[in-house]
Amino acid sequence: MNGIITDILSFSLNDGPGIRTAVFLKGCPLRCPWCHNPETLSGTPQAMWFAARCVHCGACARACPKGLRAEDGSWRTDGAACVGCGACVRACPAGASVMKGRRVTPEAAAARIERDRPFFRGRGGATFTGGEPLLQAAFVKETALLLRRRGIPSAVETSLFAPADAVDSLLDAVDLWLCDWKETDPEKHRLLTGEDNAPVRERLRRLDAAGARIVLRCPLIPGVNDSPEHLAGIAALADSMKGIEAVDLLPYHNIGNDKRKKLGLPPDGFTPPEQGEKEGWAAALRGLCRKPVRLG
Ligand code: SF4
Ligand code: SF4
Repeated sequence: MNGIITDILSFSLNDGPGIRTAVFLKGCPLRCPWCHNPETLSGTPQAMWFAARCVHCGACARACPKGLRAEDGSWRTDGAACVGCGACVRACPAGASVMKGRRVTPEAAAARIERDRPFFRGRGGATFTGGEPLLQAAFVKETALLLRRRGIPSAVETSLFAPADAVDSLLDAVDLWLCDWKETDPEKHRLLTGEDNAPVRERLRRLDAAGARIVLRCPLIPGVNDSPEHLAGIAALADSMKGIEAVDLLPYHNIGNDKRKKLGLPPDGFTPPEQGEKEGWAAALRGLCRKPVRLG
């Protein structure tokens, strides 16, 4: 089973313990407006435009069957409508129009990750992220088992908004589960992400019952999901499950906006929190929660 990915990147320090090699899988069932990897939302390849390389020849505009590109190479309309045909990429003489998304076999992915083995030093490993890796569970499983045979551990970074059998299928292949908890209030969760959080809670219970090692990862966006009620909800959830080893707070940062521009999407409109605000969240949660709380 091949995977469809945007990248395999070395030296990640934010995707699990130690130095990690991160595999970014395409496709996500949620639509969190703060997403910092918007190029992974669509499950198929799509074009990105790198303005600094563009020589404004207009070849992409003449090639695009959807009329999405302007004579200066910029996006005419919403980049989400790109069908990924690649005509603009083939037409571009400057490498300014780039296709994001490619197929990869588990063997090729494992071989690429193994090149980074010297950096893992018994602590790091591979992290499957995205997008939502559980949408491509068969690829993740096959790659993770290949890595395990080579002594390289795997983590998966997931929203857990996925079928229960996808979770079950990875129990014997994945060593650490980095699981999002985005908003405790179900209605707010639906408004923010487009989906209910009840399945996420159920998958967490499932993982916990199976003895999985879990880290709860909580994106916090000022004025959106940083309420005292949500912090209390995070603490209650973390303390209710033995398998949850720690809580990572992930304050919003705006690096996704550069990618949004390249995809023809408008800015997300959020503001990064000040350091004091971030530390206030962590201190409040530490006062409520028995599990270790880390500030990302
Ligand atoms: S990849 Fe997208 S932007 Fe490029 S030509 Fe095809 S539809 Fe147009
Ligand atoms: S073909 Fe490439 S260089 Fe020419 S306008 Fe389009 S993106 Fe820019």
